[in-house]
Amino acid sequence: MRIRKLSEGTINRIAAGEVVERPASVVKELVENAIDAGSTQIDVVFRGGGKSLIRISDNGSGIDSGELSLAIQRHATSKLGDDSLIEITSLGFRGEALPSIASVSRFKIISRADADGAEIEVEAGHPKEVAPASRQKGTDVEIRDLFFATPARLKFLKSDRGETTEALDIVRRLALAHPRTGFTFVTEDRRMLDAPQETQHARISRILGDEFIANAVVVDAAAEDIRVEGLVSLPTYARGQATLQFAFVNNRPVRDKLLSGAIRGAYADVLPPGRYPAVVLFISCATNRVDVNVHPAKSEVRFRDPGFVRALIVGTIRKAIANRNAQSNTVITKAAVASFYPQTNTNFGGFAEAPQAAFTMQMPLAGRADVNSLPEPHQEFPLGYALAQTHENYILAQTGDGLILVDQHAAHERIVYERLKRERDQQGIYTQKLLVPQVINLDPTSVTVLDAATDELQNTGLLLEAFGETAVIIREVPAAFTNADLPTLLHALADELSNSTTAEVMENRTNKMLATVACHYSVRSGRILRIDEMNALLREMERTPNFSECNHGRPTFIRLSLTDLERLFGRT
Ligand code: ADP
Ligand code: MG
Repeated sequence: MRIRKLSEGTINRIAAGEVVERPASVVKELVENAIDAGSTQIDVVFRGGGKSLIRISDNGSGIDSGELSLAIQRHATSKLGDDSLIEITSLGFRGEALPSIASVSRFKIISRADADGAEIEVEAGHPKEVAPASRQKGTDVEIRDLFFATPARLKFLKSDRGETTEALDIVRRLALAHPRTGFTFVTEDRRMLDAPQETQHARISRILGDEFIANAVVVDAAAEDIRVEGLVSLPTYARGQATLQFAFVNNRPVRDKLLSGAIRGAYADVLPPGRYPAVVLFISCATNRVDVNVHPAKSEVRFRDPGFVRALIVGTIRKAIANRNAQSNTVITKAAVASFYPQTNTNFGGFAEAPQAAFTMQMPLAGRADVNSLPEPHQEFPLGYALAQTHENYILAQTGDGLILVDQHAAHERIVYERLKRERDQQGIYTQKLLVPQVINLDPTSVTVLDAATDELQNTGLLLEAFGETAVIIREVPAAFTNADLPTLLHALADELSNSTTAEVMENRTNKMLATVACHYSVRSGRILRIDEMNALLREMERTPNFSECNHGRPTFIRLSLTDLERLFGRT
């Protein structure tokens, strides 16, 4: 075989394989073009999962009739003034999208810049003549029968509904970054997005929901010339999937491992694996700090200094969620309020039918508040003053404008965990030597795993070594680690160690081990506390970072405001 150059058509189809993997990528390229053209309104029609019709209409700058045939040629772009790939400010720049899409579909552009409008059709890469067409300023790009020219591609597509979801997700992401542009997304029978031009805040709330806004904290930090801003959810508003994570670099939506890793790292302490926070993060930096030309779809980026960017994001988010203090978690409060409402059709005549009261108060003698001894109300604490303990685990406290219910086990777990971390980072964890070293029988695998990790374990305050093949001997435990169930703790630690991969960042791994220690160290439910002990716990919670959740991401307290109470009793 002789070496020969590929035809233009073949080159375009190869490029199409990278740029237009699926209908959603077509939508992405075309909506980005419309944004680059300065449009204030962009309308997407998406039929048959994108295979029968994709039409994107905009009111942007348009394409001059004399340039239409150039626009569909490979590597033709109006966006790189001087061939420099350094100062990229537009979403597009490779000049690949239109020719790639046109090579695998029946394609048509109608556009008008300042003079008269024109249109051009392309069938599987073969252009027809440019013809005059009437239109207002702006552009329509219409794609029918996507991939009809490359049927093999069709086999890799998801169901129509799956492709529609993907495409809508792309439009949502772009819409988040461009609130001053109106967007619609319509399928054959539904208007799935209808966003007018609006403020950034309104746009975020439209795309992520009011619930998110109510459960999110603002992040805003800058270091050197990098800025990180946005909204991140409280850990208690986490989801089972990462679908509500939106990251932008210089206003370009990206799905980037560095960024998702940084988000995971920021929540590592407050969320268990498999739970994902909702976040909207805008990262802006000088264009020479980041390379966007890493992948044909331009959804990955490469920072010149990834470690710095990661540290900035992790630090900023951690601080924001730790600082929000007693901000109430409305999802939980709402769920709580809902559960307080009496069932409908309840027969109040008979006790058996009475609604299950959520507060069956059993005040142990020790826990009864002496009303006269309550401190002055003007000294307001976020978690208020303890009134009672119920069910040997829940602390009821009163604040200026409502009630707080604390899960004392969860709260104590968080306090101990944060204290252990602080000690570890400052002078090392305070430990106590056991008068009589304790021998604990375990399975051989656990013994091997624990014995291999003695250094790490010592960092968590546990001094131990293997004692034969089926036991370990413990010599030191964290101070005040009284009557802990050591065998259970060691089993949990061995599990933790064998599940964690060696690739896992060391800090994460020791933090997880500390969390496990804290969990077994904590006041289990069932301990009766005196009022002063309860108040001490509340004050300590207020001083503790991340005090709203335990180490497993469950809330440590819920708040019922007076308004909530009034609603419960139908007073408002
Ligand atoms: P790129 O966006 O990388 O420049 P494309 O193939 O997507 O490459 O588009 C080629 C050119 O066509 C663009 O540079 C732009 O000049 C023009 N163009 C495409 N879509 C539009 C649009 N909706 N409005 C105005 N001009 C457009
Ligand atoms: Mg483009």
